[in-house]
Amino acid sequence: GPTLFWHRRDLRITDNAGLLEAATLDDVLPVFCLDDELLQYAGAPRVAFMLEAVRDLQTRYRERGTDLLVLHGDPDIEIPAAADRFDVASVVWNDDYSGIAQERDEAVEDALQWADVDVTRVHDAVLHEPGTIRTSAGDPYSVFSYYWKKWADREKADAHESPDPDAFYALDSSAVPGLDDLGVSDPDASIPTGTRDAALDRLDRFLESAVFDYADCRDVPAEACTSRLSQDLKFGLLGVREVYEGTERAMAQADDEEARESVQEFRRQLAWREFYAQVLAFNPEAVSENFKSYSNPIEWKRDESALTAWKQGETGYPIVDAGMRQLRQEGYMHNRVRMIVASFLTKDLMIDWREGYRWFRERLVDHDTANDVGGWQWAASTGTDAQPYFRIFNPMTQGERYDPDAEYIRTYIDELTDADADMIHDWPELAPSERQRVAPEYPDPIVDHAERRERAISMFKRARGDD
Ligand code: FAD
Repeated sequence: GPTLFWHRRDLRITDNAGLLEAATLDDVLPVFCLDDELLQYAGAPRVAFMLEAVRDLQTRYRERGTDLLVLHGDPDIEIPAAADRFDVASVVWNDDYSGIAQERDEAVEDALQWADVDVTRVHDAVLHEPGTIRTSAGDPYSVFSYYWKKWADREKADAHESPDPDAFYALDSSAVPGLDDLGVSDPDASIPTGTRDAALDRLDRFLESAVFDYADCRDVPAEACTSRLSQDLKFGLLGVREVYEGTERAMAQADDEEARESVQEFRRQLAWREFYAQVLAFNPEAVSENFKSYSNPIEWKRDESALTAWKQGETGYPIVDAGMRQLRQEGYMHNRVRMIVASFLTKDLMIDWREGYRWFRERLVDHDTANDVGGWQWAASTGTDAQPYFRIFNPMTQGERYDPDAEYIRTYIDELTDADADMIHDWPELAPSERQRVAPEYPDPIVDHAERRERAISMFKRARGDD
């Protein structure tokens, strides 16, 4: 029988280490499994993106005379059942490093071994797999700057070729159930196109020019000059080696030191992704627990109405609300703004980071357990390499510095279209009558930043046992 290759977060044929490995064993039968347990946490935008990518992959396999077998159910039942049905001797997949994924994979592996089917797991999702970059004492890194130094110096593997066109098992498409009747709701957000060609276009466009200004412009949300590759890296429409090779070409074309530093700054973000992947691989419990232990529990507030205002983008802090509305409308938020809204939730509203994480997990197309947990714990001052608890973002100054003309804010907040930038940045501190005059529809601030800042610092001091 054929070798079964199980696609998960690697929805591509090129630069796929596991797929290439599978092709050395026998004719490859590619499979994907829709796992309801994972789908329950994902909102419609992410599911829609993923399904488009799965369909696109299916089309590409059909061009190669095979098909993508799409299963629906528990992988530890469905994968062994498919192995049995096609008389498969071995199953190959690429490793996924989050705790939930590892548990699932162990269950599948156990079930397959029970049925006498070989399992091969391959490293693919990152350039430097968890455990390969360690401190001189042999421990995994928990401080990014040191990790980054080593990561940057290490040699990188080249992108892999696609398997030969005749490497695939001739699966009759009529035997493959369609993807159309899944009852998935409309994404209700304007999301990126989930095809391999669209992902390659995003990469090429970014490498043509934006990458050379990346260092200067990445923090300015109105510029929208970052790569927008996060959903492609999350679902593997692009291989990370392909992306890195792109940076090598850009590096060769860069014509001054500034442009070279920008390319390097972009690579640094790729390294953050790998840093967080290894943090979570070695600390799987961090998906729901603080990395950093304080002497006493942090006394997060329960405040349903504030949480709702935050989710709906109605806090009366314009940069926060713009970010939360971008998330709702696009299933995406600019990185600078993610940091601002996360700081606002955990410090100004004093609400547990896990509430914010759950909302991001539902709404983000690019939700990735390791990056999302890493970002949240950083902002909440509970992470490995976290923001110190006393350094709290001021949402007004952040808005002024990174969105001086309030262009980003006005893109997402209709009520402020006619207000001028100064008024917008000062909004929470304007007199109520002034707010009424400038933008009667836009909400008043739900908290006072200066007051909340003091309270948040006291909350962390109590957690530290300082007083
Ligand atoms: P670019 O700036 O072009 O970066 C290129 C790639 O590097 C990204 O696509 C991403 O894969 C990686 N990357 C960039 N910044 C980071 C970072 N800080 N940590 C880890 N990887 C990074 N990123 C996700 O991919 N999924 C998430 O669920 C996620 N949740 C976040 C939650 C919070 C609270 C914060 C503060 C950040 C989060 N990030 C997450 C990181 C970052 O905001 C996004 O990766 C980035 O905004 C995606 O846009 P881009 O592809 O244009 O990024």
